[in-house]
Amino acid sequence: MRDHFEIRDHDAAGRIGRLEVPRAGVTVETPALLPVVNPNVLTVEPRRLAEEFGAEMLITNSYIIRSTDRIRDRVLEEGLHDFLGFDGAIMTDSGSFQLAEYGDIDVTTEEIIEFQRRIGSDVATPVDVPTPPDVDRERAERELETTKRALADAEAAETGEMLVNAPVQGSTFPDLREGAGRHASATDLDVFPVGAMVPLLNSYRYAEVVEAVRAAKRGLDPDAPVHLFGAGHPMMLALAVAAGCDLFDSAAYALMARDGRYLTVSGTEHLEEMEYFPCSCPVCAAHTPAELRELDGNDGDTEQLLAEHNLHVTFEELRRVKAAIRSGNLLQLVDRRARGHPAMLDGLRTLLDHADELERTDPASKDAFFYTSHESARRPEVRRHHDRLSRLAVPDRLLLTESDAPSNHDYDAVWRVKPPFGPFPRALSETYPLTAEVPERVDGAAQVAAAEGVASLADANPETEITLGHDDWVPRAVDAVPERVETENLRHLGR
Ligand SMILES: [Zn+2]
Repeated sequence: MRDHFEIRDHDAAGRIGRLEVPRAGVTVETPALLPVVNPNVLTVEPRRLAEEFGAEMLITNSYIIRSTDRIRDRVLEEGLHDFLGFDGAIMTDSGSFQLAEYGDIDVTTEEIIEFQRRIGSDVATPVDVPTPPDVDRERAERELETTKRALADAEAAETGEMLVNAPVQGSTFPDLREGAGRHASATDLDVFPVGAMVPLLNSYRYAEVVEAVRAAKRGLDPDAPVHLFGAGHPMMLALAVAAGCDLFDSAAYALMARDGRYLTVSGTEHLEEMEYFPCSCPVCAAHTPAELRELDGNDGDTEQLLAEHNLHVTFEELRRVKAAIRSGNLLQLVDRRARGHPAMLDGLRTLLDHADELERTDPASKDAFFYTSHESARRPEVRRHHDRLSRLAVPDRLLLTESDAPSNHDYDAVWRVKPPFGPFPRALSETYPLTAEVPERVDGAAQVAAAEGVASLADANPETEITLGHDDWVPRAVDAVPERVETENLRHLGR
């Protein structure tokens, strides 16, 4: 049990939580987005990040501070909060990223943890090794051992009230990630970043991001706060939250703005090519794209204002994700986002490969289930219903039908059939998720899922005589019904 992190609401593997940060004297609501602040270049003043954007926490790099003569002594003297002008929680990175980029840094975990403590960091980071994707297994294992030693050094350090990150590495080997998660969870460290994700995120490899997160989560305690290190594009926040991440950090808002790139919830656009802004944030409401391009510095700075738009759209999406968790329609939001980019669709499909894991934390009841795409047929609610079917009491002779019960029949009971769930007793019609809103024109995926429900019921009750009346199901759905179930196409019967 980690007493500094409390989970309030769940939807799929997503959650709204409260992370207590004792050294800052604040509690941060998660999912939280930590804007990355470059201590040398304050693109947006940290005070404004809190007041105008609602940032409760930010992240900066202690390694850069330590190795920059111009600011090091000032930060040591004033403390990080006064130096940045931010009184929320501040997380610091350790130089691991520089280690990954340049292959060598001149600081140990012991030294950098001590430095982070001295400058007043609220959440410190050891020098782990961010093993990139696609390396050979031998290297991933070797570097994982180094990361484990870094975690041990961090545990041994004097940290007082400061929380400490325990990064989970393992490259693109799910079993190594899972083992690393289990190891990190067994330490007395506090926050669990899934590391070395930037190369995957930059190339939109969202399916592998989801695999890495799910693998880490299988090893971690369910109540461990998880940080998706380097993730802050608004397009993928809903997906990453639904996979179980609680903290995000965005350098994207500033880096993208530098290249004239404009973030949206469905991708990245180039300011140069835009004629209209699809957004109503203060920046977009006050400028047309042409006006924003032509600012001369006296009336504002293009890069700065573009960074502000990027932050607005990211925080807006984060609030939308939280509202979706509260209403229980997070997976519908992920589904909507998945329509924006094929790589996001791969991410959603990979997430649904783990529907059994999502099912464990998915609430039993929420607002209506909307069937909005054939991915909806793989949601955890469908799986849960199929599991439940094997536990329901059934009579000897049972009719399952998509139409109303026939007025004359000699069955012992007549159950409804509703794709994608399949059969259920009429008495359950008003219970979640069977109250689902499903389109009149049901697709094949929903019919196949319903057929799997029929199979689940038939398998659990081998003695029961079952007849199924279906509304012109596609052949692969009919094929998924066990042979011993008698089927009738209601369309052919004229019902
Ligand atoms: Zn905007």
